[in-house]
Amino acid sequence: MQGDAAGWPVGDALNHCGGAEVGDCDGPQGAALHRGFPFVDYVNRGEGEVSFTRLLACLRDASSPAGIPGLCWRDAGGTSHANAVSAAPLPASALVTPDCTDCFEQHAASRTGSMAEPHLLVESSRGCWWGQKHHCTFCGLNGSFMESRDKSQDRFVDELLVMTERYRVLNVAVADNILDMAYPRSAVPRLAEAECDLRISYEIKSNMRREQLVSLVAVGIHYVQPGIESLSGRVLKLMDKGVTGCQHHLAPPDGVTRIAIERFSPYFNRPELAFGDLRPGAQLRGHP
Ligand code: SF4
Repeated sequence: MQGDAAGWPVGDALNHCGGAEVGDCDGPQGAALHRGFPFVDYVNRGEGEVSFTRLLACLRDASSPAGIPGLCWRDAGGTSHANAVSAAPLPASALVTPDCTDCFEQHAASRTGSMAEPHLLVESSRGCWWGQKHHCTFCGLNGSFMESRDKSQDRFVDELLVMTERYRVLNVAVADNILDMAYPRSAVPRLAEAECDLRISYEIKSNMRREQLVSLVAVGIHYVQPGIESLSGRVLKLMDKGVTGCQHHLAPPDGVTRIAIERFSPYFNRPELAFGDLRPGAQLRGHP
């Protein structure tokens, strides 16, 4: 770890950027991680696009990061500070298009590059339209913000076509928590016109109807990950999943755990639901 002219430490930063699975840096555990491990210079809690660019500006200008939402930082004396997390999620219009040039160049130059076909990772929405109404009781995704936010379909298709052409890749993995069914319908004409033969993967709600699944294939969505957490209607009701066991017409998963209590999930936050005696695992005792 080094220090800059104003005494703010410069070096590695840990960041959780919403949309993908919540890491270990969101909420109170992000602040605890920063307090407990002095070699971690910064932790960002919540979505990172705005905070990270503001942090870079602070480092460039040697100014204080005290006003950056969600950031944990140290003052010149080494004391850890945790700024309040932003009260509002980032609007979809503010989601930036990633620049994956370095990643694809490094993959091409790697000795193992020829053994693994690269996938382009893209994002069409953040949050979860179902969880916004019925938060599945086990789900800890979207720690800070559950609100569903979609990029406009035109923008997403533009991004998809530009990026797949730029990086010469046909395999596309969409990082969204859950597919918004309006997407395939409106994207069909433009993707069909482009004739680009993409192989797209998406996470979907498990009670999609046959004709809806057929419409996914029409836009190149060939791989789906449906949330099949149980085949018991009673258990699914307890989970607030909004599906019944008999609606699962797809093959069940081949690897399962009995249950995981995820931070930010209703099972974690509301002990009255079932699990009142939560405590850290033995391996975590003694840490902050
Ligand atoms: S499990 Fe899936 S559908 Fe349920 S709240 Fe989480 S992301 Fe949404």
